[in-house]
Amino acid sequence: MMTQIFRSLVEKIQMILLLLWVKIDLEFFDSFNDVILKIIDLIMLFAPYGVFALLATLIVEAPKWDLLKSLLLYSLTLILGLGVLILLYLIIVKTFTGKSPNFFLKGILPAQLVAFSTSSSAATLPVTMDRVHNHLGVKEEVSSFVLPIGATINMDGTALYQAIAAVFIAQTFGLDLSLGAQLGIILTATLASIGAAAVPSAGIIVLVIVLSQAGIPEAGLALIFAVDRPLDMCRTVVNITGDATVSMLVDKLIKKK
Ligand code: ASP
Repeated sequence: MMTQIFRSLVEKIQMILLLLWVKIDLEFFDSFNDVILKIIDLIMLFAPYGVFALLATLIVEAPKWDLLKSLLLYSLTLILGLGVLILLYLIIVKTFTGKSPNFFLKGILPAQLVAFSTSSSAATLPVTMDRVHNHLGVKEEVSSFVLPIGATINMDGTALYQAIAAVFIAQTFGLDLSLGAQLGIILTATLASIGAAAVPSAGIIVLVIVLSQAGIPEAGLALIFAVDRPLDMCRTVVNITGDATVSMLVDKLIKKK
């Protein structure tokens, strides 16, 4: 009898200790998360000055006029392509969720501005989650599942950038790309964008894979390095807009069921 009482007492104490441990653990990770968010806040406060400094270096170290002209054309082509992607998202949102482009853009604009100034889908994630849930009306279960995954694997802007950059470098080196090589670029650019981290300049690092697969000299990366930062800012905007679009679609699908 006594041993039974003693055993159940020990079991209860063990249970209490376990719950206490889980609670302390949760509090520890919660506060750790708060610290990270605070650090991101502080970094974002200084981001505009950093971007200014990067652009100033770019202008001072500008290469010769001819190359500058082709870099300008390459940048414009990419910006046009990214614009087409945004248009496509608006059409998808309108067609499948019935929400107006104005509603969607107004809801996601603050996140796009953060993406533009930080060049990082990961750093923008807290803002994207807030806008998608509180302003675009997506359920929290959906936004908190789709957006973190989307931030790392859904990078349409980065995939488009890699394809255009690879073709630009090949043309600068005077290489003729066959249809097979072009299809290979599309495939590896898509895969490389999935593998790219959601941080600044991740796209240009994994571009090496696309170039080597297509037989384009990797040294060509140096050509586009100078203009990479502003283009990174633009493609990150497209990346997070794509994530928001997918969240809206998934939310609509779930609500239908
Ligand atoms: N900066 C981009 C992002 O975080 C990735 C890239 O370099 O293309 O979405």
